[in-house]
Amino acid sequence: MRKSAAFALIAALGLSSWAIARALGPAAWPDARLRAVPAEFPAGFGVRRVMLDPGHGAPGNSGNKNAFCRDEQSFTLELAEDLAASLARTGHFEVKLTRRAGDLTPYSDRIRAAETWPADVFLSLHSDVRGKTELWQPDPSLTCSRSRVAPGFSLLWSDHGDAAGERLGLARALAQSMQAAGFLAYQGADYAPTYAPDDRQPGVFVDRHPVPERIFVLWRPAVPSVIIETHNALDDREALRWNEPDTRAAFAAAVESALALALGRRPSG
Ligand SMILES: [Zn+2]
Repeated sequence: MRKSAAFALIAALGLSSWAIARALGPAAWPDARLRAVPAEFPAGFGVRRVMLDPGHGAPGNSGNKNAFCRDEQSFTLELAEDLAASLARTGHFEVKLTRRAGDLTPYSDRIRAAETWPADVFLSLHSDVRGKTELWQPDPSLTCSRSRVAPGFSLLWSDHGDAAGERLGLARALAQSMQAAGFLAYQGADYAPTYAPDDRQPGVFVDRHPVPERIFVLWRPAVPSVIIETHNALDDREALRWNEPDTRAAFAAAVESALALALGRRPSG
């Protein structure tokens, strides 16, 4: 079908312009097709312990509301459950979640659980909120905030304490494999001065909050920890993509590749 005819057909079906762009070929995220590249595990990698932390779901802390007024804590729990199943299927990971549906779990308990196990790595899953917002109605009964000006993922880490080197290696490996899968690395315009961009890997940012406000799950755990801000929750296009099984599969494959690289440098315990 000629492109103009395809446009007319898609427009007649009532799809939005970003969906049209996506249907017609190569484009950047959030229109891009993603690639789920299977991880390659080095010989002797064995079985590693991964603590997945579905962000929020703590007392008095449900996180953001996305462009469809959905609570961040509900998105992160569903994503963590999907990711846990994918990691376990490789046969190379034993996975625990820091909380389950209905739990209200303080962050200090989550870190203690990771250290007691002990986990090899602590991955905290979140979605971000950035950019100038407007009100919109995803359906007539709902009024929510959205913003399309600052899409993309970010990896946050802390250079405070003994695990700093391992955290940076982990953050860079995760950002690199997410980029390779087709996800967009956030440029960081809204982050200064509280996070500073990495000089080597796009999408990686080090915590620069004043000392009393530093992010607990980044500096406190003895287990190497990072926060994955999967996308801008206020961007309705990204929020829809992250509900798709293909996006979850590409993300899981990217995490598996990054862990194969970052943990593969360390001897198996
Ligand atoms: Zn969050």
